Amino acid sequence: MSAGKNPLHPTSTLRCLVTLTICGLASPLAAQCPDVARFTPIAILDDGIESTVLEVATTGKPVSVTMRIDSGTPVIIQGASACGAPLNVTLHDDGTHGDRAAGDGTFTLDGIRYQANAPSTCTAHTFSRATPSLRGVYLGDITILRNGGFTTIPFNQYALWILPVSEFGIPEPVTRLSTDVQVSAHVVNIMDNQESVNRILSGEPGVSIQALSSKVYSVLPDAYDFLNFTTTGQRLCPGGKSVGLHIMVKQDWTGTGSLPFDNSASYGSSGKLLGINFIEQQSSDYFPTFAHETLHQWAAYLPALGLVGTGGHWSENTNIAGAVGGGAWSYGGDGAYSAISSGFTSTWRLPPLELYLMGLASASEVPPILVSETPPLATGYGSRFLGPFRQVTAAQIQQVAGPRLPGPGQSRNDFRAAYVVATPGRLLTQTEMTAYDRISRLFTGSLQPRPGNNRPTFAEITGGRATLETSVLPCAFTLSPSDLNVSASASTGTVFVSASSSSCRWTASAAGDWIRITGGESGLGNGAFSYSIAANPGVPARFASLAVTGAVSSQDMPVSQSGSFGQNVLASVNGLMRSPELINSCLTPGSCSDQPVTRGRMAVYLIRALTGGGNFSYSPTPYFEDVPPSHPNFASIQKLYEAGITSGCAPRQFCPASPVTRAEMAAFLVRTRFRISAVQGFPFPSAPHFTDIPMTNLFFPYIQKLRELGITLGCSATEYCPNSYTTEGQMALFLMRAFLVPDYGIQAAR
Ligand SMILES: [Zn+2]
Repeated sequence: MSAGKNPLHPTSTLRCLVTLTICGLASPLAAQCPDVARFTPIAILDDGIESTVLEVATTGKPVSVTMRIDSGTPVIIQGASACGAPLNVTLHDDGTHGDRAAGDGTFTLDGIRYQANAPSTCTAHTFSRATPSLRGVYLGDITILRNGGFTTIPFNQYALWILPVSEFGIPEPVTRLSTDVQVSAHVVNIMDNQESVNRILSGEPGVSIQALSSKVYSVLPDAYDFLNFTTTGQRLCPGGKSVGLHIMVKQDWTGTGSLPFDNSASYGSSGKLLGINFIEQQSSDYFPTFAHETLHQWAAYLPALGLVGTGGHWSENTNIAGAVGGGAWSYGGDGAYSAISSGFTSTWRLPPLELYLMGLASASEVPPILVSETPPLATGYGSRFLGPFRQVTAAQIQQVAGPRLPGPGQSRNDFRAAYVVATPGRLLTQTEMTAYDRISRLFTGSLQPRPGNNRPTFAEITGGRATLETSVLPCAFTLSPSDLNVSASASTGTVFVSASSSSCRWTASAAGDWIRITGGESGLGNGAFSYSIAANPGVPARFASLAVTGAVSSQDMPVSQSGSFGQNVLASVNGLMRSPELINSCLTPGSCSDQPVTRGRMAVYLIRALTGGGNFSYSPTPYFEDVPPSHPNFASIQKLYEAGITSGCAPRQFCPASPVTRAEMAAFLVRTRFRISAVQGFPFPSAPHFTDIPMTNLFFPYIQKLRELGITLGCSATEYCPNSYTTEGQMALFLMRAFLVPDYGIQAAR
């Protein structure tokens, strides 16, 4: 902070530039904004059913809080319509009817609904917003009566948002990341029980910004150039107030008039974060305020030339017409200039000087700036500057500030901002998240503004020279190795975790009772954990998984371990396929390899693979009429039914002597390998492998999976031959690849 100038830089808004309300520093206004009004939720559907609660959090124990709602306001409050006649309502602090606590200074009014299908005379207090079809409603003035006087404060017109069901009825998906953070695709919502955003905006000392930023970084990666905080609560101010605030966190360039520094670590970033914006509730959907605060990162630090006025903005006596101030002048032909309220607000383009300071334009693109040596005849727009005038050239700017380095082509031109909504004591409803998500998407241009709302995007104001993205990036993890195939003996090892950011937390876990984590169970950023695997005493191979899990995403690692069969492939297949249950079994490998496998023999093979041998329990009561207890394959067929792998060939029939097609065998093998029943789903590759197995084939998922695992290569390079019978020889290969040495099969397929 010592090296940087103005790291904490209070600002006003463009609206200030236009209307000339007070554009002062934040701190003198703090005493004027002690009270906060908020709707919970701030956005409701226009169905006339969804309701909201108004809370006015006051200081100094007022006697009462009342509200006058003008006629023509399409709301119904506790059953009374404000459409035809004004409503005077009293908010209460008695702990009843939605009031959270008696006597805590927060006054409450519940049961506020939108008046659906109100006559057109009752839309006087609604305001269209840039977001398609989102409307703001102005509910009325709030009067706070204190001992010694009262103040009546106009509630801002965008206090409550009304959303048409037709457009917002399908909400954005929301993911809860922790007890006090949730995200949608373009919005981060954090719980802020201290109402910190409004207190920071009011210049109250001692409010922790780090407490807010660290909440973001506790669950999301260090991937953002800007954190943009806003809130659902509206400060009630009798006079003007600053509606935005920018904090420069890091500067890694020269030539803009302030010195490079890096404060990112104190906010929880490892060097990515450039700046933090705070924006008041009523400007939370207003892109020019966002652009203004963000441009404070680069603009209006130039010393000595008379270009910078008060509050860290361009002087009103210049014709810079930028995002952070300066007038837009038009020449009157008589040696005088008139200030017009166009400039940035109507052309939606940053002037060359601001693009130059961002490193997006060369010095030769910056025309001389006009500075009036005398104040205008009157302040404000429409006023006249009579001169004398002087020019400030790009060469003079470089003389006092040095060259802008890096310059065009080398400087950053792709930015990412997190749009963060802080809510006191709660998280946003899904309807609210949807509303904010649309607003955030408007900033980046991924959503078109409604017709007539000429709201620009970041790419537009920079003339296409830079972009700004607001999509929320979850943490992602990569594991090395990506899969694990080990021998039957006991073993240990280490898995390396690569995280998409140093702020991504993860926890390692093992699924399977023969594998466990032995060290490094959790971590932050890149790291490693160790595991141990017990010896496999069984005959078949077995399968488990390791995983790391973060706030949003997780990464699995399949683990397979050979069984004792895996010691010798040929002997293993031989052993698996020879069973006392199999009378007429082929005694010499290969001698019956062309014979079709019957369903009865298949049951024996699969159950031996599933259980590791002949020791397993099964019901003595026959499930199938054609498989009595005297049947040589009775035990395996009973077990196959109990495992859910088959329900027979017809009601109460198993057809043990029927041959098995290759298509049917794919289903049996996959179900056995993954211990799943016939009704359970599983992931499989969607692009067809075989020309004779289209997606519409009933067995498509199983055959795709079989090919993915390398258990089959097909009957030719392009075909699977689903209707051919499975031979004993093919069965040997299937069993070997599926159950004995799984890695053998995968490598064969590679
Ligand atoms: Zn400002």
